[in-house]
Amino acid sequence: MLPTTPGATPIAQIALDIPVSRLFDYLAPGLTRQDIGLRVRVPFGRKEMVGVVMDLIPDSNHDKHKLKPILEIYRDAPALPTELLRLLNFCSDYYHYPLGPTVMAALPTTLRRSQPIHIKLAHAWLLTSAGLALSADDLPRHAPAQRALLDTMRDGLAHTGATLTAICSGYRGIVKTWVERGWAAQINLPARLHAPPVAADTAPQLTPAQQDAVTRINAAFTNYQAFLLHGITGSGKTEVYLHLVASALERGGQALLLVPEINLTPQLTGVFRARFPHIEIATLHSGMAEGERLAHWLAAAEGRARIVLGTRLAVFAPLPHLALIIVDEEHDSSFHQQDGLRYAARDVAVVRAQQQGVPVVLGSATPALESWHNAQNGRYTLIRLDQRAIASARLPVINLIDTRSSKPEEGLSAALLAAIRSRLAAGQQSLIFVNRRGYSPALMCFECGWGAACARCSAKLVLHLRDRQLRCHHCGHVESVVHACPACGNIDLKPGGFGTQRIEDALTRHFPEARILRVDRDSTRKKHSWPDMQRAIHKGEADILVGTQLLAKGHDFPKLTLVGVINADSALYSPDFRATERLFAQLMQVGGRAGRASEAGEVLIQTQFPDHHLYRLLQRHDYAGFAASLLAERAAAGFPPFVHQAVLRAEAGKLDTALAFLHQAQGAAPHMAGITLFDPTQASMARKAGVERALLLVQSPARKPLQAFLSAWMPQLYALKANNVRWNLDVDPLEI
Ligand code: ADP
Ligand code: ZN
Ligand code: ZN
Repeated sequence: MLPTTPGATPIAQIALDIPVSRLFDYLAPGLTRQDIGLRVRVPFGRKEMVGVVMDLIPDSNHDKHKLKPILEIYRDAPALPTELLRLLNFCSDYYHYPLGPTVMAALPTTLRRSQPIHIKLAHAWLLTSAGLALSADDLPRHAPAQRALLDTMRDGLAHTGATLTAICSGYRGIVKTWVERGWAAQINLPARLHAPPVAADTAPQLTPAQQDAVTRINAAFTNYQAFLLHGITGSGKTEVYLHLVASALERGGQALLLVPEINLTPQLTGVFRARFPHIEIATLHSGMAEGERLAHWLAAAEGRARIVLGTRLAVFAPLPHLALIIVDEEHDSSFHQQDGLRYAARDVAVVRAQQQGVPVVLGSATPALESWHNAQNGRYTLIRLDQRAIASARLPVINLIDTRSSKPEEGLSAALLAAIRSRLAAGQQSLIFVNRRGYSPALMCFECGWGAACARCSAKLVLHLRDRQLRCHHCGHVESVVHACPACGNIDLKPGGFGTQRIEDALTRHFPEARILRVDRDSTRKKHSWPDMQRAIHKGEADILVGTQLLAKGHDFPKLTLVGVINADSALYSPDFRATERLFAQLMQVGGRAGRASEAGEVLIQTQFPDHHLYRLLQRHDYAGFAASLLAERAAAGFPPFVHQAVLRAEAGKLDTALAFLHQAQGAAPHMAGITLFDPTQASMARKAGVERALLLVQSPARKPLQAFLSAWMPQLYALKANNVRWNLDVDPLEI
């Protein structure tokens, strides 16, 4: 018998998309440490699955004779860099979510399939700058297919035949004509991700404050340091980002820029392409077609794309030469993933920067209180931009309309109407900010107090008058409007409260001659109609805008000089302790839309509480003062950031089932000092889509003991009998 070297066949530890907190061992003949991070196909039960090699070890804890060999190793995409595997390991530990699903969730869908990808050089088409400048009116009137193609390609990205066929099967003929006219270009994917350079843009002279910010951050380039860039709206944060990205590029590195909204990516991509015309930019967000997302992901992974711009999921992009991370609008709640791996991309970005020894810049006009607190206690370095970048642009004047004395009619007070009228006469735009879509958030009987409610959720139905429907904004349930009170028979049902449609109707009655444009999720549902609306607003084709926070974010409308706020007060008495923080941020943001160019802007807020300190501080544009008062409140009440929280949520068909599970979980909790376990309770939204929801809050003054507790508790939870219950853990929850 030939002597065998023990451990000659290495064992690969594979991450699989199986919800258990362990890796799976397979025999991996021929694999070396270079193969860590590659995808493999393995047998699993009677199926085959794709997984990622996380480690190679000489021996297994399992019986080596029972281990199966891996079936295939895919070398079609670069291995996930070790630094990324380390980050994913951290996320799995910190958020207490199984490692396999964490790793697999970081891959584009195509790479999760158990078959190799075929990266053939596919033809793709994208609009040139001439094409990007087209409006729908430049196309033949009766050509819906051409318009739809134009809409899709307006994002400036390269689209393959697969995407374009889905929009119009005759796309080839159309794009061929466009190429001939110079509106579009044909390229090979994955050669370039974006159109050849549009007109290049040159950097303006930085303001002294911007220069100071850039200098200070540049000095930290070879180390981890977290900066909080607190810049008022219009202070020119984007210009600071552009300079920092240039520094990263000069060092041969890759820069990662995270933004909150898909809506903001095309706009920002355009800015970066103009500034860095010869640099490949990858964009990553959930709205991309599978093939395009893969092409961009690969460009990042191969290091070809030197700038990667994306929404929260981009925090897990593989970046072999990562040199800088920027999180724009870092306070935005869309950085929080609310299912599966529940993570906060801003926090993950900071950890990633720390692990890789690179700077991270968190930018906002209204930082999250957590970030502000970290800047106060020295964990982050605070850099402020206190002036608007364009010298003539002044901050808006914020005035309050006391609705106790100046009673609004159909939501609009006489003072607000007069202000709109004066803007109309001057040829300027007004924006009316309403934080609800639909006609009104309730349909009520004022005889007996009945209100239309969703049968499947603990929520009121929203009246959508134009469609004669009542809709649940939580579960999507739709029913037709009832004409009599089901409780008392009263036929005089009335809307309660104001949504965008109701305000739009009221404005139409007051200003029949004005061009009114409503911007909310209903009016922009048609893909890409929001970019069309933005163009229309820019060109001055609307006089009055009515909209939700969709309108509040990051858009620059030069003719806009008045912002009216209709129903802000409700946040002042919300049970959610973060409601006022969000309100202040929202009002600062929406106020920042007014008077960005040479015109000074005015913000008019209708309120019953004109003396509330939130409004007083807002009038002074005093974020720091507001943050200080909030921090004092939170410290006194024992809320984050002075405590750290995790929430165990349970969902079941019956509330008792969910609560019973949580009581078991409470009973199974290890006793540890410094940990407070609250009693299980109903969630603030107790029923959603027919499912009852309950939660158990865990709290600790420090992160470390909380993490130690959760690590000890999780195995106990997995061991519980959870019949008919779905549960999950949310670390650092945004809402409780
Ligand atoms: P923020 O993101 O901080 O709200 P922006 O980055 O949108 O602000 O900048 C506001 C405006 O100021 C933009 O129109 C931008 O082009 C302009 N701007 C920024 N920096 C400069 C500068 N150094 N010189 C001239 N204009 C600038
Ligand atoms: Zn009634
Ligand atoms: Zn519902």
